[in-house]
Amino acid sequence: MEVGIIGLGLIGGSLGLDLGDRGFTVLGVSRRESTCQRAIEKGIVDRANINLSLLSNADIVIICTPIGLIVPTLKELIPHLSKKTIVTDVGSVKTPIVEKCSKLWDKFIGGHPMAGTAEQGVEAAQRDLFKDAPYVITPRANTPKDSVKLLEEIAIRLGAKVYQCTPEDHDRAVALISHLPVMVSANLIKTCLGEEDPLILKLAQNLASSGFRDTSRVGGGNPELGVMMSQYNQKALLRSLLEYRQQLDQIIEQIEQENWQDLKQILEITKSGRVPFL
Ligand code: NAP
Repeated sequence: MEVGIIGLGLIGGSLGLDLGDRGFTVLGVSRRESTCQRAIEKGIVDRANINLSLLSNADIVIICTPIGLIVPTLKELIPHLSKKTIVTDVGSVKTPIVEKCSKLWDKFIGGHPMAGTAEQGVEAAQRDLFKDAPYVITPRANTPKDSVKLLEEIAIRLGAKVYQCTPEDHDRAVALISHLPVMVSANLIKTCLGEEDPLILKLAQNLASSGFRDTSRVGGGNPELGVMMSQYNQKALLRSLLEYRQQLDQIIEQIEQENWQDLKQILEITKSGRVPFL
């Protein structure tokens, strides 16, 4: 089976490595010639170049470009596609992409493998990135069932755990567990940087250890990705942020009023409530 990958970066490159290992023929298209060459050298793809015509006979094409380029890439790809080809994407936001892409191509299925690292580009590609990670598929009611089944089978071959839901439910759920944490963690870093006493700031930097490393990790990631999440998932992210603000106000009030019993109750709920998310 021929799989086409467009955008040979962290996600596209990692998919290429795993799919090649599992016997698929992998064809890659990326923006830069140098990336295509590197992908061939690293064994990510069997063949690669910068022209979408390379994918004219692919059974499935996975668009792995930055979010804002997914719809324009599909538009450019369509004149080269054969009718049998299933197209999917890996974008971290689904509603605006699925709305547009499913109108352009009836065998389009939204997808989101929920795995990543802080690195970018072809050099960041790694094997087994998707093993044991959730892989969300967001078909429409009229998406051909056999196309959905094939995408599911591919995700399972990668070792991922497949979930199906609507694009809208996906976006609300990832706003809570992925996009909100980026903003909360970014604000934690910003609050620390706002310390006006240089002595305290320096001391805090010296004393920061594993707790700060865990809680600041996602806020110190790729700024472009954070902006894209906010742009493309604005409604769901704002809903989560507003709810977060209310929760924060409640904690502030309890500390101000020395309401230690209620504060303890909240922390007991969060201690046990964290477990089902992990
Ligand atoms: P990335 O490492 O920056 O890779 C994106 C690649 O797309 C770049 O290497 C670039 O290749 C290529 N590209 C850019 N414009 C292109 C174009 N017009 N045509 C073809 N290729 C083009 O980013 P990524 O982290 O893999 O993210 C890609 C997608 O995965 C995004 O939609 C993101 O939402 C999604 N995603 C990311 C993560 C994560 O944690 N990073 C997790 C799940 C899903 P060149 O080197 O050729 O310029």
